[in-house]
Amino acid sequence: SPLRDATQALTNAGDPVTGATSDGVLYPTFDHDALAELAGFGRRRPIAPGDVLFGPGEDLPDFLVILEGEVELVRVDDQAETVIATFPPGQFVGGIGLLTGQRLYLTARAKRSGWILQIDRSEFRRLMSSKPALADIIFGALVARREFLGVSEAARAVRIIGSRHSPDAMALRSFATRTRLAYTWIDLDDADDVDAVLDSMGLRPVDTPVVVTPTAVLRHPSPADLAAELGLAYQPVPGRVFDLVVVGTGPAGLAASVYGASEGLDTVCLDAVGPGGQAGASSRIENYAGFPSGITGGELTARTAIQAQRLGALLASPAEAIALRLEQGFHVVVLADESEIACRSVIVATGARYRRLAVD
Ligand SMILES: Cc1cc2nc3c(=O)[nH]c(=O)nc-3n(C[C@H](O)[C@H](O)[C@H](O)COP(=O)(O)OP(=O)(O)OC[C@H]3O[C@@H](n4cnc5c(N)ncnc54)[C@H](O)[C@@H]3O)c2cc1C
Repeated sequence: SPLRDATQALTNAGDPVTGATSDGVLYPTFDHDALAELAGFGRRRPIAPGDVLFGPGEDLPDFLVILEGEVELVRVDDQAETVIATFPPGQFVGGIGLLTGQRLYLTARAKRSGWILQIDRSEFRRLMSSKPALADIIFGALVARREFLGVSEAARAVRIIGSRHSPDAMALRSFATRTRLAYTWIDLDDADDVDAVLDSMGLRPVDTPVVVTPTAVLRHPSPADLAAELGLAYQPVPGRVFDLVVVGTGPAGLAASVYGASEGLDTVCLDAVGPGGQAGASSRIENYAGFPSGITGGELTARTAIQAQRLGALLASPAEAIALRLEQGFHVVVLADESEIACRSVIVATGARYRRLAVD
């Protein structure tokens, strides 16, 4: 059956977390039985050619399964439209943002009329935790799609423009890379005519570094501004009390988040910079259990981050913890932007800070 084929493709791909991009993994087709299982999580909705199912940068789009007809994912800019993927019946539209909250700067549009099954975020979470066979296929596709989008035309939807000699531009790139954002870096030091490059986007050199998305132009943004635009910033919910706040998303904090979330604790993991910690800078780690051939630090921490998110942990960065206090029997973690998070327990996994010699 197609469900078995998709599972087989996933198995053949070796390890779905590496983001293998064979078509069976990227675009699994659910068979009749799988569609019947999925039906219990969503509502059917008719589609007609040209209907926009979600637009670029939209908050938390739903998980969409094509039942009849066809849907395409397109990147639209001022000059042209580029089709990134087309989804026939049995396939689903959705990206890694279903797990991470990260916005997708693409448009999903009906190409042929038919029906879709629309599954909202809370039902999607229920699906992922209650149907392991389907969840494995969906998870494999979401991770593979993230990698695919990063090397496809879709990466042109988010452009970071600046000089490689600018620390502010490098901080933005570092954050984007650590969050595995699909983006294009435009280095002004490599441009023959900087003014012409910027002028074509209605910008001037004084505007840089700048981030351009289909919905926003961020002049001189901080990584926190970029995170907010991407939907990755921590958004305080008044009255919410987490079971566990983990401060630091290096290997220690991420591992703590995996175990907290897998035990059913309502877990949030914060980092002042971005996921990965020191390990994110390591080109090869050969002494981590379970990886006999070694693994890059970025890959190791990206795997652990998505594992924590799949289990339900919330990851947010940049979010620097600056204070901790006890109030009415709860811990309260205070962030640099003055927002506060109440919780029952805290794990501080902020790693090492080097003491520098006072020499020039
Ligand atoms: C280039 C390089 C290569 C390495 N290679 C190896 C190797 O091969 N094998 C090996 O065993 N180890 C290696 N290490 C060391 C390894 O990376 C560290 O031991 C490991 O990352 C420590 O993990 P951690 O989670 O405790 O802390 P860290 O990785 O330091 O993570 C701490 C995190 O906490 C965040 N943070 C700090 N303060 C706050 C705050 N107030 N609020 C919010 N967040 C905060 C930081 O931004 C950081 O992301 C290497 C390190 C480097 C730099």
